[in-house]
Amino acid sequence: MSKYGYEQKSFQSKKTNFVFFMLLIVVIFVWALVLSPDHGGLVSVSLNPELRIDFVNVGQGDAVLIRTPKGKVFLVDGGVNVPVADARREGRELIQNYLRSQKISRLDGLVITHWHNDHLGGIIPVLRLFEVDKIYETPSTFNTEAWQTYDEICKKDRIQRISVKAGDVLEWGNELFVQVINPEKPVSSKEYSEVNNMSVALLLRYGKVQTLLAGDIEEDAEREIMKYGEGIRSQILKVPHHGADTSDYMPFLQLVKAETGIISVGRSNAFRHPSPRAISHHERVGTKLYRTDRHGNIRLFIGGKDTRDYRFVVDQRL
Ligand SMILES: [Zn+2]
Repeated sequence: MSKYGYEQKSFQSKKTNFVFFMLLIVVIFVWALVLSPDHGGLVSVSLNPELRIDFVNVGQGDAVLIRTPKGKVFLVDGGVNVPVADARREGRELIQNYLRSQKISRLDGLVITHWHNDHLGGIIPVLRLFEVDKIYETPSTFNTEAWQTYDEICKKDRIQRISVKAGDVLEWGNELFVQVINPEKPVSSKEYSEVNNMSVALLLRYGKVQTLLAGDIEEDAEREIMKYGEGIRSQILKVPHHGADTSDYMPFLQLVKAETGIISVGRSNAFRHPSPRAISHHERVGTKLYRTDRHGNIRLFIGGKDTRDYRFVVDQRL
């Protein structure tokens, strides 16, 4: 019996040692993952869910891709629609190719801030090639060839279109607050500045970090939006109208008080955007600027735990 008892005890102690050893390995592995900068690339999604916003280098134009931590995908504007050879020569992305490169096949929503071609143009191939759940658009119509093509595709494919205006809140998932802050009311005009001032401007709040996507608004709309007061203070500003001097109203920029501004602009563009005055206004407010013509695709990751919990990654290839 005593021999049997001894053997059983020894067996149990070996088993305890083995369990302890395995536990130790698990603890060391988890500890190493938590301490590593990217959490081993395995648990970053669950430990630190981020909102991702790509300011795509579409040359002279805007295209902003938003991916929520829960996997929803939204696109704000599509840049211009030009032949592939032209885009390659000019060192710019075509939005449909960028979406493919990101393995995106469908969009939960598309925002068309206004009807100028450097925002609407690229939307047409996107509608032809990708499944789009719904479109949020500026509350006006526009009688151009591109707009008519867009209108026909939407009707043929029966895509839900929603006209939005200031005060609307978009349902993009409960972790992300999205509010429309411009335009105030529909204005049917083809006049250049009025079309710009009809731009859909969006406030995106994720955790403690706010981003303002300002479309191509000019000073009139900038003044109007100031009625929101401190509510428009944002860490990140998609600089209105490619940094034009029509859109650098100092009191507006002081109210937004962005830490970082993104200028979506083409290299050596005919409009000479951005203007030196607009750049100096942003610098006086203390806004650090990124530019798609210099930095390429500008990628923003927002953790939102506090007001500083965001980071930028830029393509330095260009
Ligand atoms: Zn524009």
